[in-house]
Amino acid sequence: MVRTIMTTTRAVLRHKAHVVTTFDQQLAKLLDDLAETMYAHCGIGLAATQIGIKRRVFVYDVGHGLCEMVNPILLAGEGQMKSVERCLSVPGLKRTIRRYARVRVYALNRFGAPLWVEAKGNLACCLQHEIDHMDGILLMDHEAWRTPHDTHLNWGDLFGRTAHCLYGHDEFFGHHSSCSD
Ligand SMILES: [Zn+2]
Repeated sequence: MVRTIMTTTRAVLRHKAHVVTTFDQQLAKLLDDLAETMYAHCGIGLAATQIGIKRRVFVYDVGHGLCEMVNPILLAGEGQMKSVERCLSVPGLKRTIRRYARVRVYALNRFGAPLWVEAKGNLACCLQHEIDHMDGILLMDHEAWRTPHDTHLNWGDLFGRTAHCLYGHDEFFGHHSSCSD
């Protein structure tokens, strides 16, 4: 079932979500609804708090199929990357922020079995964004990426895709990714 996505006016987005202790039909239904809702809104990730459920659960699909995480923990992060992000719960905001370039995440699946994911690039950024949602952290809480050497990036922020096309190459911006979740 496609659920309503909460936006920043809803306090639930700011709550620390609860650890899942029961792996039952209700959890399965929540994960199914999250996936359906994420795809309906063309997102690449969606956390339970975004549909008003205070559980440490999210789904994502960065182009390699649907994945689910229950009680995710960021075990390690290294390096840094520019990440251009949007959030379905913060309509209209596009923010370039700093993320770990590589992460290792531990979580459980819907049956309570453990899984470890090592990620870089777009997936690493997506996982960090979703794990933020577990603790009520939103995109605007991150400092925007601004350094004297990033004038070109500021242009990109100002003019969006036009500037991006103008420069033409992702590598001009360095290692970065773009996500909406
Ligand atoms: Zn989000």
